[in-house]
Amino acid sequence: MSPTNKKQVRVRIAPSPTGYLHIGTARTALFNWLFAKQNNGVFVLRIEDTDLERSEEKYEKDIIESLKWLGLDWDEGPIKQTDRLEVYEKYLNQLLAEGSVYYCFCSKEQLEEERQAMLAQGFGSKYSGRCRLLTAEQVKENLKSTASHVIRLKVPETKITFTDIIRGDITFDAALMGDIAIAKDPRVPLYNFAVVVDDEEMAISHVIRGEDHIANTPKQILIQKALGFGSPEYGHIPLILNADRSKMSKRFSATSINEYREKGYLPETMVNFMALLGWHPAPQPSVEARGKSAVVEKEIFTAEELVKEFDINRIQKAGAIFNVDKLDWLNAQYIKKMDSKDLAKLLKVKDTEQNLRIVEATKERLKKLSDFQEMAGFFVEVAEYNPALLIWKTSTKEKTLANLKEAEQIISAIISDDFAKNKLDKVLMPIAEARGKGDFLWPIRIALSGLEKSPGPFEIMEVIGKKETLVRVAEAIKLLGK
Ligand code: GLU
Repeated sequence: MSPTNKKQVRVRIAPSPTGYLHIGTARTALFNWLFAKQNNGVFVLRIEDTDLERSEEKYEKDIIESLKWLGLDWDEGPIKQTDRLEVYEKYLNQLLAEGSVYYCFCSKEQLEEERQAMLAQGFGSKYSGRCRLLTAEQVKENLKSTASHVIRLKVPETKITFTDIIRGDITFDAALMGDIAIAKDPRVPLYNFAVVVDDEEMAISHVIRGEDHIANTPKQILIQKALGFGSPEYGHIPLILNADRSKMSKRFSATSINEYREKGYLPETMVNFMALLGWHPAPQPSVEARGKSAVVEKEIFTAEELVKEFDINRIQKAGAIFNVDKLDWLNAQYIKKMDSKDLAKLLKVKDTEQNLRIVEATKERLKKLSDFQEMAGFFVEVAEYNPALLIWKTSTKEKTLANLKEAEQIISAIISDDFAKNKLDKVLMPIAEARGKGDFLWPIRIALSGLEKSPGPFEIMEVIGKKETLVRVAEAIKLLGK
């Protein structure tokens, strides 16, 4: 589908503030944002807070903060539905006056009884339409006396077909739906009704949203028809799934954007990662170094590149699997590329020369910002470690001790000013090669870090300096010699 030039592209993200910004909603926001940017369109933020019981201000704040953090800036809004109650009321009164909707006074118990009876007879359950038959007089009386009621749309027995940008034609049989509730009262609209009014009033051209809303679309089209509105175009994007293909849930992974932020994922990573949840660029033929041609799939995209390359027509129908290893890999790529000073700021460490060296030595291995403390703490102090860790896989205690002692001697002879990574490499590497790299370098690295995984020994030595290096090597010799 290519958007026609006649109609300006206007899209929206319409979160309900009933929870923190969910990664699925954030991805929907991203796809809409990209589509708007690609088409010189307008991206609207609408807060769907008509469910007063479940909506909370803290969630609204979080949604706004998280969208900002991701860099998904909006052109209009935030528009809150609770600020627009009189608008919905106006349209509901119009429909009541026209007779295309009616008050329903059936109690929950009555509806449940009716439902059970229908199921027992082998029918799908739907509202029987009983209250359609009430006279104006009865309605008036009931409104005075009965506390609970809803407003229902008279749903015609027709088929509703819409063309989904991602899924093609989708048809629903409205005859199976029954008369749907669209409001509790003229001043209390329900979700589907408020969406239809807002999409019309905000001139939304394309509704791009999660697949979980497909079943709402025919309902919204019926409401549009009753109001005499046209329909926007629809595109329903696939769900995000856990690795076992179940719907993504808190049980398997964090679901809200703020959790990813707290864990130390960068906004650039999240945007890049979310773009690939359900969308892939067209494979680009490339020529590899050996001259063979191959097809490579690009995986790293800045937001600007996404604006150029994202294509709504390439969104897949199948569920998108959430792969946390890929997320970690992507985050590591972005961290690696960062300027160390900027990274130090994000890590909230003081911009001292020593700290910058630590950041520099650590950033190659950081997957998440939150790993930093654990990964870099040893620069300041080595935590207690098991002396057996000093012995390389194929080595022995004796060999390790001998190698550490030799290393100690050589290191003592290097002048402090030469304690730079490349110089240390020049001096120590030939010996490491002679003694066996694992046998020689592994114990030094463990002595310096106390950790199985850390930056290389020369990098650590450069950061901590000669004196501290010798203290740590001597300590290792003492530990192992016991
Ligand atoms: N408020 C709905 C939600 O949070 C989205 C409505 C829509 O996109 O039409 O799921």
